[in-house]
Amino acid sequence: HPELRTVAQIPAYHAARQPDTTAITCAGLSLTYAQLHAESNRIAHALIASGTGRGDRISYLGVESTHYYATYFACAKIGAVLVPVNFRLTRPEVEHILRDSGSTLLFVDADLRTAVDDSAEITVLGASADDFEEWTSGHPDTDLPAVTGPDDAVIQLYTSGTTGLPKGVVLAQRSFFAIRDSLAAAGLDWIDWQEGDRSLIGIPGFHVGGVWWATQGFSAGITNVAMPRFDATGALKLIESLEVTTACVVPAMLRLLLAEPGASKEVFASVRKIVYGGSPISEALLQESLPVFDCDFAQIYGLTETGNTAVCLPPADHVAGSHRLRAAGRPYPAVDVKVIDDAGRPVPVGEVGEVCLRTPAHMTEYWGMPEATAKTLVDGWIHTGDAGRLDEDGYVHISDRLKDLIIVGGENIYPAEIENVLAKHPGVADVAVIGVPDEKFGEAVHAFVAARPGADVRPRDLLVFCRDQIASFKIPSKFHFVERVPRNPSGKILRRELREQFWSGRDRQVN
Ligand code: ATP
Repeated sequence: HPELRTVAQIPAYHAARQPDTTAITCAGLSLTYAQLHAESNRIAHALIASGTGRGDRISYLGVESTHYYATYFACAKIGAVLVPVNFRLTRPEVEHILRDSGSTLLFVDADLRTAVDDSAEITVLGASADDFEEWTSGHPDTDLPAVTGPDDAVIQLYTSGTTGLPKGVVLAQRSFFAIRDSLAAAGLDWIDWQEGDRSLIGIPGFHVGGVWWATQGFSAGITNVAMPRFDATGALKLIESLEVTTACVVPAMLRLLLAEPGASKEVFASVRKIVYGGSPISEALLQESLPVFDCDFAQIYGLTETGNTAVCLPPADHVAGSHRLRAAGRPYPAVDVKVIDDAGRPVPVGEVGEVCLRTPAHMTEYWGMPEATAKTLVDGWIHTGDAGRLDEDGYVHISDRLKDLIIVGGENIYPAEIENVLAKHPGVADVAVIGVPDEKFGEAVHAFVAARPGADVRPRDLLVFCRDQIASFKIPSKFHFVERVPRNPSGKILRRELREQFWSGRDRQVN
């Protein structure tokens, strides 16, 4: 629907055209488009009555729910900015976000209330359906004047903090439409929504991937399916019972879904497209996924700072065995990519450097951090902090985060490359690789391996397995067997957690 230019317009637009279509269903509660429009109007009126105005920050600490999305649209309608808070954060982290964002109101789930300091200077409201019902009772569901446009901020997302203190990335309403428009202008439509689609929002809504995907679904007027928290057993049931047709997930979710007892081609029969991204995917996982899901796959690459996806590996490139599966994809028509060296100069095609992206969907700023903004957003280019390269065909290959680079005796090693190899071993369920301090070589490569249930896999087997595939200096000098590899809800390995035991009290020099 190209007429839609803002998040704020979405509920009214579809309420007028298909009022009875389910807009969102989550944990047994559903809202049709007519109800979503009315409910977001009521919340918007209640927000205004509580003194909320344009530019005010409203925090939301809760699991996914129909009300989370109604609140998102309410904020968009009145020009307030929603600040979703990851429900797995600790109390000091939550406090940082509430303070940093200057939020005036906080919606919080009852069982997450302990994550909020009582002395916090903020109005705290419950986030259950009953709480919303009570809080909005007496407020009308009448339409509000349209006060926001594409350049108004709509959401402030705190990057998950796998590196340092979370920063508030401010996204304007246009960030959610710019890529769609650029595809439409080029006559391309890789999402190709279809009437009757039921779309699973696998990535949580406090993450750019989740809210971006949900916004695409809402603006297409299809039915969105959310889960309070992702769990593979529940997701499988939903896929089967609701005949989910499309889903957006992180690679870790694909792995969990495949490992579910009962996961089969038949169970996934209704699914026609899976969009995945948010962290590197191992080729092994991708090759394993293709025949089981037996549908179109699209990979997306981007950052919160780029308003989610800037690069996409379309379904046509997902051919089993193809070398294309090692790429993150190609930039969208309106996106430019360059790869630069330490001095900021473009490197030749094929060489690894820092990936920079120029996209119309980019953030407006890091909230209250002009210096950090100026470092990341330079002349319209987002400096991603990812190491990667471009190939002759213009495909982007992501090696890893620059800051995760391991340097052994002067040789650069990207953890994702080693993880990719180890993930192919039949006894390995999940793996993480980090650098640890080493007297002789500066750093040494350590691998943390979660074995598949019942697999008898030993360090020696893994060593031999690696020897055939990677240079000897890259082979882990130690394999730690762990129950599970720590990952954040968006599927990223929590390397900081793994590094802690080795680096305590020492500084890690990263170039
Ligand atoms: P930070 O770690 O900086 O605090 P974060 O983990 O929340 O933040 P996001 O914006 O969620 O950051 O994630 C962006 C990063 O995710 C990218 O820089 C890249 O490293 C990784 N990423 C996203 N999509 C892909 C992909 N398709 N392939 C490889 N890596 C990806």
